[in-house]
Parts: sequence; C-alpha cells; structure tokens
Amino acid sequence: MAFRGSCLCGSVQYQIDQLDGPIVHCHCTTCRKAQASQYASTGRVLRDHFRITAGEEQLQEFESSPGKLRKFCRTCGTHVFAERASDPYVILRVGTLDDDPGRSPAMHIWTCHDVAWLTDGDDVPRHAEWQPGR
Ligand SMILES: [Zn+2]
Ligand SMILES: [Zn+2]
Repeated sequence: MAFRGSCLCGSVQYQIDQLDGPIVHCHCTTCRKAQASQYASTGRVLRDHFRITAGEEQLQEFESSPGKLRKFCRTCGTHVFAERASDPYVILRVGTLDDDPGRSPAMHIWTCHDVAWLTDGDDVPRHAEWQPGR
C-alpha cells in the first residue's frame, strides 16, 4: 500500500510506502520561514520508499544551509521535502500528504527558535471553520 501526496496546485505528485520515522514539528527559524508558519511538520522517508510520480521538473530547490536542499513547487510554492545528498532518506513535509499515513505527531523540536508573538498556546480559541461573526 502506498500513501499519496501532492503540492497545492497538483503539479507535483508523489507516493511513499511508509513514514520511516516519527512525525516531528520543527520550529527552527529556517523551517518557520520556509513554511511561513509557526513550525514545519516533518517525517523521514527512506529514498527507496519515496517516489515522485508527476511533476519532478516542477521542483525548484533552495540550499537553506550548506548541503541542505529544500524542494518546492515552482508554480504554487508548496515545500514538499528537504534532503541532504548524503542521507539515505528525505525529510518529507507531511502536510502535503493526501492520505493518512497512520501516525501522529511525536514531538516538537527547536522550540528555542520560537518567536513569542507566534506561539500557539492552549488558550487560543479553535474553530472548526471560520471564526464566528465573520
Ligand atoms: Zn504546485
Ligand atoms: Zn527546521
């Protein structure tokens, strides 16, 4: 069984056989900037378990630190995965999965990079859809 994923515009499509590590929310500054979000939800996938099935030519890369390439769709900007050439795995941005990989987030890392104004404490109201009165 394979789990499917894609970028926002649908140009880039991929499949994974499984996540080969826990789902980790990374709060580091480069992830915050790359995702334009408080943190990036990531999971390791062995290269043998990861296949781009469409739109490989759409992937643009940015070297965010020496040897670390962040790959994103050149049309819609979705950050799909990051990799280091020497690693046997890619670091998938699990928010791009269309199927449920059967795992839940296990931890937050690099919270020392958090900026106080973007911290999502438990006291922040949650709404299933738009906020009331909008
Ligand atoms: Zn796209
Ligand atoms: Zn990070």
